[in-house]
Amino acid sequence: MLARSLPLALALLSPTAASAQRPPNVVIVFTDDQGYGDLSCFGHPTIHTPHLDALARAGTKFTQFYVASPVCSPSRAALLTGCYPKRVGMHKHVIFPQYDYGLHTDEVTIADMLKKRGYATGCFGKWHLGHRPGLLPTDQGFDEFHGVPYSNDMSRVHRKPNAKYPYHMPWMRNREIVEWEPDQRLLTKRATEAAIRFIDAHKDEPFFVYVPHSMPHIPLYASEEFAGTSPRGLYGDVIEEIDASVGDLVATLKRHDLVDDTLFVFTTDNGPWLPFKQNGGTAGPLRGGKGSNWEGGQRVPCIAAWPGHVPADTVCREVVTTMDLLPTIATLTGSELPNRTLDGHDAADLLLGKPGASSPTEQFLYYTSKGKLAGIRRGPWKLVLDGDQLYQLEVDISEKWDRNKVHPDLVKDLRAAAEAQDAEIEAEMRPTRKVAEVLFDPAERRPAPK
Ligand code: MG
Repeated sequence: MLARSLPLALALLSPTAASAQRPPNVVIVFTDDQGYGDLSCFGHPTIHTPHLDALARAGTKFTQFYVASPVCSPSRAALLTGCYPKRVGMHKHVIFPQYDYGLHTDEVTIADMLKKRGYATGCFGKWHLGHRPGLLPTDQGFDEFHGVPYSNDMSRVHRKPNAKYPYHMPWMRNREIVEWEPDQRLLTKRATEAAIRFIDAHKDEPFFVYVPHSMPHIPLYASEEFAGTSPRGLYGDVIEEIDASVGDLVATLKRHDLVDDTLFVFTTDNGPWLPFKQNGGTAGPLRGGKGSNWEGGQRVPCIAAWPGHVPADTVCREVVTTMDLLPTIATLTGSELPNRTLDGHDAADLLLGKPGASSPTEQFLYYTSKGKLAGIRRGPWKLVLDGDQLYQLEVDISEKWDRNKVHPDLVKDLRAAAEAQDAEIEAEMRPTRKVAEVLFDPAERRPAPK
């Protein structure tokens, strides 16, 4: 179990003083299918991301930051709960419009945790953790939701008329359908505008703003202002619009003089969708992309800033994962940790740049897009279970040189450790929630009869 340490300053304050001491706001921007190499500050030669680069200069860039799954829904479940997707039963690939389950409402999300601490909480963008009644963001700790319930390719507009899944995608406000098949050129802009309105409305209280953008998930769309502007093509346009969205969010914080009171995190749910060639991104020097357990599928760009707390213009090379965000945010905000087994660790010391701080992750498990144990990382070593391939990531970032024959004992040891931890997770696996009732019929494009 995790040890939890309230920041001393908060712990020592009287209740009155503690409420006067406002905990930091938290903003998490979580893009969809963006590669490790798709930002200028992560080395992209033609995509121009001045706002994200400025965020990195104002804070810390993480070069060994992992998501817990190479696909959308399981990765989102892990970010919001601090658990491996398998622990919360969300490991079996993504949620399609016809599915009847989602993340269980007994799970405690970052939004639940911060709401209990007195935060206003909003989700703006793509949810993808269940869309039947009782499974939406407003059932999982968010006061407000504006966005789409699942991926932007789960839409008849983008599929042939005889497609296997002839469904439509709605734009929603909380539980209401605002419109069917929203203009996808405006998805990034609309999510950003809703987030800004929320910050404007809640500037006088602590807030948690989660912005899981739909883009750059295929099909790609950019608004008129950005379309056709990047030398990298449409994919570059889309990333540059996301970069501008981050700039608008930071400008909003500045307008309210809240930059120094806000922890701002930028990352993405999984690696780039490589089979789409120029419409997919790049994982830079990493092997593989979305859907794979090579580093390119699960190691993603991450930037965190909180001026005066997170050291400026620094690079953190330690292993950190999206599962660490919940326990870390608990520490930084003085929130009570969920009374459940978590897999993430408190990485506050690393984030705050404490001298000598090191990764709290002893070992990290890789799972396939369908939730099968696929590998383990411990220190510099990664074992890919398929074929017992052993890579020393610190010297072989592209996973080219299998060291299996040189270290047979390490291979055995890592395999045993991976299987033991997976067995423990499986034995304690918690259920998803199934809901028979529907809010809308995605095939017929209408709300369910009352
Ligand atoms: Mg994704």
